[in-house]
Amino acid sequence: MNDAPWLDRLRAGFRKTSDRLGDNLTGLFTKAALDGETLDEIEEALIASDLGPATAAKVRTRLAAERFERGLTEEAAREIVAQELEKILAPVAQPLEIDAFPRPQVILVVGVNGSGKTTTIAKLAHLLVEQDYGVLLAAGDTFRAAAIEQLRIWADRVGVQVISGPEGGDSSAVVFDGVKKATAEGIDVLIVDTAGRLQNKKGLMDELAKIRRVLGRLNPAAPHNVVLVLDATTGQNGLNQIEVFQEVAGVTGLVMTKLDGTARGGVLVAAAEQYGLPIHAVGVGEGMDDLRPFDAREAARAIAG
Ligand code: GDP
Repeated sequence: MNDAPWLDRLRAGFRKTSDRLGDNLTGLFTKAALDGETLDEIEEALIASDLGPATAAKVRTRLAAERFERGLTEEAAREIVAQELEKILAPVAQPLEIDAFPRPQVILVVGVNGSGKTTTIAKLAHLLVEQDYGVLLAAGDTFRAAAIEQLRIWADRVGVQVISGPEGGDSSAVVFDGVKKATAEGIDVLIVDTAGRLQNKKGLMDELAKIRRVLGRLNPAAPHNVVLVLDATTGQNGLNQIEVFQEVAGVTGLVMTKLDGTARGGVLVAAAEQYGLPIHAVGVGEGMDDLRPFDAREAARAIAG
Protein backbone atom coordinates (compact mmCIF):
# COMPACT_ATOMS: atom_id res chain seq x y z
CA MET A 1 0.00 0.00 0.00
CA ASN A 2 1.48 3.32 -1.08
CA ASP A 3 -0.10 5.14 1.78
CA ALA A 4 1.38 2.98 4.53
CA PRO A 5 4.43 5.11 5.45
CA TRP A 6 2.22 8.17 5.83
CA LEU A 7 -0.33 6.31 7.88
CA ASP A 8 2.36 4.86 10.12
CA ARG A 9 3.76 8.32 10.69
CA LEU A 10 0.34 9.72 11.47
CA ARG A 11 -0.47 6.88 13.84
CA ALA A 12 2.90 7.27 15.51
CA GLY A 13 2.11 10.98 15.73
CA PHE A 14 -1.14 10.41 17.52
CA ARG A 15 0.09 7.46 19.58
CA LYS A 16 0.72 9.48 22.73
CA THR A 17 -2.70 11.03 22.42
CA SER A 18 -4.46 7.71 21.90
CA ASP A 19 -2.43 6.05 24.68
CA ARG A 20 -3.55 8.77 27.02
CA LEU A 21 -7.13 8.33 25.95
CA GLY A 22 -6.74 4.59 26.53
CA ASP A 23 -5.26 5.17 29.99
CA ASN A 24 -8.12 7.46 30.85
CA LEU A 25 -10.70 4.94 29.70
CA THR A 26 -9.07 1.82 31.14
CA GLY A 27 -10.98 0.34 34.00
CA LEU A 28 -14.27 1.79 32.90
CA PHE A 29 -15.17 -1.15 30.72
CA THR A 30 -15.15 -3.87 33.30
CA LYS A 31 -18.47 -2.51 34.48
CA ALA A 32 -21.42 -4.49 33.25
CA ALA A 33 -23.84 -1.66 32.78
CA LEU A 34 -23.39 1.79 31.37
CA ASP A 35 -25.00 3.57 34.25
CA GLY A 36 -24.99 7.32 34.60
CA GLU A 37 -21.89 7.20 36.75
CA THR A 38 -19.90 5.24 34.16
CA LEU A 39 -21.05 7.59 31.43
CA ASP A 40 -19.91 10.51 33.59
CA GLU A 41 -16.50 8.89 33.98
CA ILE A 42 -16.17 8.26 30.25
CA GLU A 43 -17.16 11.83 29.52
CA GLU A 44 -14.56 13.08 31.99
CA ALA A 45 -11.91 10.81 30.48
CA LEU A 46 -12.59 12.30 27.05
CA ILE A 47 -12.37 15.84 28.39
CA ALA A 48 -9.11 14.93 30.16
CA SER A 49 -7.83 13.84 26.74
CA ASP A 50 -8.32 17.40 25.46
CA LEU A 51 -11.14 16.49 23.07
CA GLY A 52 -13.29 19.27 24.51
CA PRO A 53 -16.59 19.18 26.44
CA ALA A 54 -18.85 19.33 23.38
CA THR A 55 -17.18 16.29 21.78
CA ALA A 56 -17.25 14.40 25.07
CA ALA A 57 -20.97 15.12 25.44
CA LYS A 58 -21.65 13.84 21.91
CA VAL A 59 -19.83 10.57 22.59
CA ARG A 60 -21.69 10.21 25.87
CA THR A 61 -25.06 10.68 24.17
CA ARG A 62 -24.12 8.12 21.54
CA LEU A 63 -22.95 5.56 24.13
CA ALA A 64 -26.09 6.07 26.17
CA ALA A 65 -28.20 5.34 23.09
CA GLU A 66 -26.35 2.12 22.17
CA ARG A 67 -27.32 -1.35 23.37
CA PHE A 68 -24.40 -3.54 24.45
CA GLU A 69 -25.63 -7.07 24.95
CA ARG A 70 -22.60 -8.36 26.78
CA GLY A 71 -21.44 -5.09 28.28
CA LEU A 72 -19.31 -2.51 26.58
CA THR A 73 -15.89 -3.63 25.43
CA GLU A 74 -13.00 -1.23 25.04
CA GLU A 75 -12.94 -2.08 21.35
CA ALA A 76 -16.58 -1.13 20.87
CA ALA A 77 -16.09 2.09 22.79
CA ARG A 78 -13.08 3.06 20.71
CA GLU A 79 -15.07 2.36 17.57
CA ILE A 80 -17.83 4.69 18.72
CA VAL A 81 -15.30 7.35 19.72
CA ALA A 82 -13.67 7.03 16.28
CA GLN A 83 -17.00 7.40 14.50
CA GLU A 84 -17.99 10.46 16.51
CA LEU A 85 -14.58 12.08 16.02
CA GLU A 86 -14.76 11.46 12.29
CA LYS A 87 -18.15 13.17 12.12
CA ILE A 88 -16.68 16.25 13.80
CA LEU A 89 -13.47 16.28 11.76
CA ALA A 90 -14.87 15.49 8.30
CA PRO A 91 -16.33 18.95 7.60
CA VAL A 92 -13.08 20.74 8.53
CA ALA A 93 -10.67 18.44 6.69
CA GLN A 94 -10.00 20.69 3.72
CA PRO A 95 -6.76 20.77 1.78
CA LEU A 96 -5.17 24.14 1.14
CA GLU A 97 -6.53 25.30 -2.19
CA ILE A 98 -4.25 26.96 -4.67
CA ASP A 99 -6.43 28.65 -7.29
CA ALA A 100 -5.23 29.04 -10.85
CA PHE A 101 -5.75 32.81 -10.82
CA PRO A 102 -4.59 35.33 -9.93
CA ARG A 103 -0.88 34.69 -9.74
CA PRO A 104 0.79 34.76 -7.32
CA GLN A 105 -1.51 33.13 -4.83
CA VAL A 106 -0.54 34.58 -1.47
CA ILE A 107 -0.48 32.51 1.71
CA LEU A 108 0.00 34.51 4.88
CA VAL A 109 1.30 32.28 7.68
CA VAL A 110 0.64 33.45 11.22
CA GLY A 111 1.20 32.03 14.70
CA VAL A 112 3.13 32.61 17.89
CA ASN A 113 6.91 32.25 17.91
CA GLY A 114 7.96 28.68 18.47
CA SER A 115 4.73 27.20 17.13
CA GLY A 116 6.56 25.76 14.14
CA LYS A 117 5.75 28.49 11.65
CA THR A 118 9.08 28.54 9.81
CA THR A 119 9.26 24.76 9.64
CA THR A 120 5.67 24.56 8.40
CA ILE A 121 6.38 27.15 5.70
CA ALA A 122 9.31 25.02 4.54
CA LYS A 123 7.24 21.83 4.56
CA LEU A 124 4.43 23.54 2.68
CA ALA A 125 6.86 24.93 0.11
CA HIS A 126 8.28 21.45 -0.31
CA LEU A 127 4.81 19.94 -0.88
CA LEU A 128 3.98 22.63 -3.44
CA VAL A 129 7.30 22.26 -5.24
CA GLU A 130 6.63 18.54 -5.48
CA GLN A 131 3.34 19.44 -7.20
CA ASP A 132 5.28 21.60 -9.67
CA TYR A 133 4.29 24.97 -8.28
CA GLY A 134 6.83 27.77 -8.36
CA VAL A 135 7.20 29.06 -4.80
CA LEU A 136 8.73 32.20 -3.29
CA LEU A 137 9.08 32.80 0.45
CA ALA A 138 8.87 36.25 2.01
CA ALA A 139 10.66 36.77 5.33
CA GLY A 140 8.01 38.96 6.90
CA ASP A 141 9.17 38.30 10.46
CA THR A 142 11.72 41.11 10.35
CA PHE A 143 11.77 41.38 14.12
CA ARG A 144 14.02 38.35 14.65
CA ALA A 145 17.24 38.07 12.65
CA ALA A 146 17.24 34.36 13.49
CA ALA A 147 13.85 33.95 11.82
CA ILE A 148 15.14 35.39 8.54
CA GLU A 149 18.23 33.18 8.70
CA GLN A 150 16.18 30.12 9.55
CA LEU A 151 13.89 30.71 6.59
CA ARG A 152 16.94 31.03 4.30
CA ILE A 153 18.37 27.74 5.50
CA TRP A 154 15.08 25.98 4.85
CA ALA A 155 14.63 27.65 1.47
CA ASP A 156 18.04 26.33 0.39
CA ARG A 157 17.07 22.84 1.45
CA VAL A 158 13.73 22.99 -0.32
CA GLY A 159 15.21 24.73 -3.36
CA VAL A 160 13.11 27.89 -3.43
CA GLN A 161 13.98 31.59 -3.28
CA VAL A 162 13.50 33.91 -0.33
CA ILE A 163 12.91 37.63 -0.35
CA SER A 164 13.92 39.51 2.77
CA GLY A 165 14.69 42.99 4.09
CA PRO A 166 16.85 44.37 6.87
CA GLU A 167 16.35 43.19 10.44
CA GLY A 168 13.84 45.46 12.13
CA GLY A 169 12.66 46.74 8.75
CA ASP A 170 9.10 47.16 7.52
CA SER A 171 7.54 43.75 6.96
CA SER A 172 5.00 45.15 4.51
CA ALA A 173 7.88 46.40 2.34
CA VAL A 174 9.21 42.83 2.18
CA VAL A 175 5.77 41.59 1.20
CA PHE A 176 5.50 44.31 -1.46
CA ASP A 177 8.85 43.24 -2.92
CA GLY A 178 7.71 39.63 -2.75
CA VAL A 179 4.57 40.20 -4.79
CA LYS A 180 6.49 42.29 -7.34
CA LYS A 181 9.14 39.62 -7.75
CA ALA A 182 6.64 36.77 -7.92
CA THR A 183 4.60 38.64 -10.53
CA ALA A 184 7.65 39.54 -12.62
CA GLU A 185 8.96 35.97 -12.54
CA GLY A 186 5.63 34.20 -12.97
CA ILE A 187 5.92 32.47 -9.59
CA ASP A 188 2.71 30.68 -8.58
CA VAL A 189 2.69 30.92 -4.80
CA LEU A 190 4.10 33.48 -2.38
CA ILE A 191 4.29 32.23 1.21
CA VAL A 192 4.69 35.02 3.74
CA ASP A 193 6.22 34.45 7.17
CA THR A 194 5.00 36.92 9.78
CA ALA A 195 5.99 38.01 13.27
CA GLY A 196 4.49 36.10 16.19
CA ARG A 197 4.79 38.58 19.03
CA LEU A 198 1.49 38.07 20.78
CA GLN A 199 2.83 39.91 23.83
CA ASN A 200 2.44 43.07 21.74
CA LYS A 201 -1.01 42.36 20.33
CA LYS A 202 -1.68 45.91 19.15
CA GLY A 203 1.70 46.09 17.37
CA LEU A 204 1.12 42.73 15.73
CA MET A 205 -2.39 43.67 14.67
CA ASP A 206 -1.16 46.92 13.09
CA GLU A 207 1.65 45.10 11.32
CA LEU A 208 -0.64 42.41 9.89
CA ALA A 209 -3.22 45.02 8.89
CA LYS A 210 -0.53 46.93 7.01
CA ILE A 211 0.63 43.77 5.23
CA ARG A 212 -2.97 43.10 4.22
CA ARG A 213 -3.40 46.64 2.92
CA VAL A 214 -0.25 46.45 0.83
CA LEU A 215 -1.22 43.03 -0.51
CA GLY A 216 -4.75 44.15 -1.29
CA ARG A 217 -3.52 47.07 -3.34
CA LEU A 218 -1.36 44.83 -5.51
CA ASN A 219 -3.70 41.88 -5.75
CA PRO A 220 -7.27 42.55 -4.54
CA ALA A 221 -8.04 38.97 -3.50
CA ALA A 222 -4.81 38.61 -1.50
CA PRO A 223 -4.08 37.10 0.90
CA HIS A 224 -5.87 34.09 -0.54
CA ASN A 225 -5.17 32.07 2.57
CA VAL A 226 -4.30 33.08 6.12
CA VAL A 227 -2.98 29.95 7.78
CA LEU A 228 -2.62 29.82 11.55
CA VAL A 229 0.09 27.45 12.78
CA LEU A 230 -0.82 25.96 16.15
CA ASP A 231 1.44 23.93 18.41
CA ALA A 232 -0.57 20.93 19.63
CA THR A 233 1.61 20.62 22.74
CA THR A 234 0.08 23.83 24.10
CA GLY A 235 -3.25 22.03 24.47
CA GLN A 236 -6.15 24.27 25.40
CA ASN A 237 -3.91 27.34 25.12
CA GLY A 238 -3.93 26.78 21.39
CA LEU A 239 -7.66 27.39 21.38
CA ASN A 240 -7.14 30.86 22.84
CA GLN A 241 -4.62 31.53 20.08
CA ILE A 242 -7.27 30.76 17.47
CA GLU A 243 -9.45 33.48 18.95
CA VAL A 244 -6.68 36.06 19.11
CA PHE A 245 -5.41 35.39 15.59
CA GLN A 246 -8.92 35.38 14.15
CA GLU A 247 -9.20 38.87 15.53
CA VAL A 248 -5.78 40.16 14.44
CA ALA A 249 -5.33 38.30 11.17
CA GLY A 250 -8.62 36.89 9.85
CA VAL A 251 -7.55 33.24 9.86
CA THR A 252 -8.92 31.09 7.02
CA GLY A 253 -7.44 27.74 8.06
CA LEU A 254 -5.20 25.85 10.47
CA VAL A 255 -2.13 23.68 10.47
CA MET A 256 -1.47 21.88 13.73
CA THR A 257 2.15 20.98 14.45
CA LYS A 258 4.06 18.68 16.80
CA LEU A 259 1.42 15.98 16.96
CA ASP A 260 4.29 13.52 17.18
CA GLY A 261 5.51 14.81 20.51
CA THR A 262 2.41 15.26 22.59
CA ALA A 263 -0.45 13.53 24.34
CA ARG A 264 -2.56 16.59 23.68
CA GLY A 265 -3.46 15.95 20.04
CA GLY A 266 -7.10 15.74 21.07
CA VAL A 267 -7.12 19.52 21.05
CA LEU A 268 -7.38 19.27 17.29
CA VAL A 269 -10.88 17.86 17.74
CA ALA A 270 -11.77 20.56 20.25
CA ALA A 271 -10.59 23.19 17.75
CA ALA A 272 -12.71 21.66 14.98
CA GLU A 273 -15.75 21.45 17.21
CA GLN A 274 -15.42 24.94 18.63
CA TYR A 275 -14.30 26.99 15.63
CA GLY A 276 -15.11 24.96 12.54
CA LEU A 277 -12.10 26.40 10.70
CA PRO A 278 -10.64 24.26 7.93
CA ILE A 279 -7.72 22.11 9.07
CA HIS A 280 -5.38 21.85 6.12
CA ALA A 281 -2.56 19.71 7.40
CA VAL A 282 -0.81 18.33 10.47
CA GLY A 283 2.87 18.34 11.40
CA VAL A 284 4.18 15.00 12.61
CA GLY A 285 7.92 15.64 12.78
CA GLU A 286 10.73 18.12 12.19
CA GLY A 287 11.66 17.02 8.69
CA MET A 288 10.69 18.44 5.33
CA ASP A 289 8.39 15.49 4.59
CA ASP A 290 6.59 15.61 7.92
CA LEU A 291 3.54 17.60 6.89
CA ARG A 292 0.50 15.44 6.23
CA PRO A 293 -2.62 16.73 4.47
CA PHE A 294 -5.36 16.41 7.06
CA ASP A 295 -7.62 13.40 6.68
CA ALA A 296 -10.59 13.12 9.06
CA ARG A 297 -10.90 9.34 8.98
CA GLU A 298 -7.19 8.72 9.49
CA ALA A 299 -7.00 11.21 12.33
CA ALA A 300 -10.15 9.92 14.06
CA ARG A 301 -8.89 6.32 13.91
CA ALA A 302 -5.39 7.34 15.02
CA ILE A 303 -6.72 9.28 18.03
CA ALA A 304 -9.25 6.62 19.04
CA GLY A 305 -6.46 4.00 18.84
P1 GDP B 1 8.57 29.39 14.67
O1 GDP B 1 9.27 30.17 15.76
O2 GDP B 1 7.09 29.40 14.85
O3 GDP B 1 9.00 29.76 13.31
O4 GDP B 1 8.97 27.86 14.93
P2 GDP B 1 10.01 26.91 14.19
O5 GDP B 1 9.54 26.55 12.84
O6 GDP B 1 11.38 27.49 14.32
O7 GDP B 1 9.86 25.61 15.10
C1 GDP B 1 10.16 25.59 16.48
C2 GDP B 1 10.65 24.19 16.86
O8 GDP B 1 9.59 23.26 16.67
C3 GDP B 1 11.80 23.69 15.97
O9 GDP B 1 12.71 23.02 16.79
C4 GDP B 1 11.11 22.73 14.99
O10 GDP B 1 11.98 21.72 14.54
C5 GDP B 1 10.00 22.17 15.86
N1 GDP B 1 8.85 21.68 15.07
C6 GDP B 1 8.12 22.32 14.15
N2 GDP B 1 7.12 21.52 13.68
C7 GDP B 1 7.23 20.34 14.30
C8 GDP B 1 6.50 19.09 14.27
O11 GDP B 1 5.50 18.89 13.55
N3 GDP B 1 6.95 18.11 15.09
C9 GDP B 1 8.04 18.28 15.92
N4 GDP B 1 8.40 17.28 16.71
N5 GDP B 1 8.72 19.42 15.99
C10 GDP B 1 8.34 20.44 15.20
